Amino acid sequence: MSIIATSVAILKDNYAWLLRDSATGATAIVDPADPAPVIAAIEAAGGRLDLILLTHHHADHVAGTDAVRDRFGAPVVGAAADAHRLPRLDRAVTEADTVPLGAASARVIDTPGHTRGQINFFFADGAVLLSGDTLFSLGCGRLIEGNAAEMFASLEKLKALPDETLVCCGHEYTESNARFALSVAPDNAALRARVAEAAAQRAAGQPTVPSTMGSERAANPFLRAPDVAAFAALRAAKDKF
Ligand SMILES: [Zn+2]
Repeated sequence: MSIIATSVAILKDNYAWLLRDSATGATAIVDPADPAPVIAAIEAAGGRLDLILLTHHHADHVAGTDAVRDRFGAPVVGAAADAHRLPRLDRAVTEADTVPLGAASARVIDTPGHTRGQINFFFADGAVLLSGDTLFSLGCGRLIEGNAAEMFASLEKLKALPDETLVCCGHEYTESNARFALSVAPDNAALRARVAEAAAQRAAGQPTVPSTMGSERAANPFLRAPDVAAFAALRAAKDKF
């Protein structure tokens, strides 16, 4: 039994994620910001929706939530800390809460930094991480509401996940992240290999995500910063890049 994650390209460069529990057929959608393509993807997958998961309150992640709920009647799960500015939640969750999907279940990971109430969901059966705007392939989210220490601590939690974990993030940012990553770590062979892989994926018209946690640990400069000060310097440099 495991979770199968499929990206749904929406808006300019966002991804919603369709999750299916292979044991039961239970289906979830993550960050359904644009209802038309999301509803079409759910219908194409059989028209079943059991759960709506939200990583954070930004409109490019949640704007279509009510339309998708109205269409399928699925309950909405999001961060208790941001319940006041998320779409109406049926369940408000915090760190280490468990969210079932069919025979599988996700663990909630608090990952403040990009926003105060950002959460990620980790399905050990899969293994699948919904990383929202916390961790991108070869990058990480901008510090819009949190500070470098908070984001560094959030990424430390994600770094502890198994190598094979699929990192299902909220944006197709890999190519621009790659340019910055190569500028700070031009000799990292794992990074160069990942950049070549991503370029081939884009040339073939494919998404570059999900990547794996093993690949990100080896190639993503933000996961390789040894301490908060180094991370903060890296994040500041990326903001100006
Ligand atoms: Zn965001």
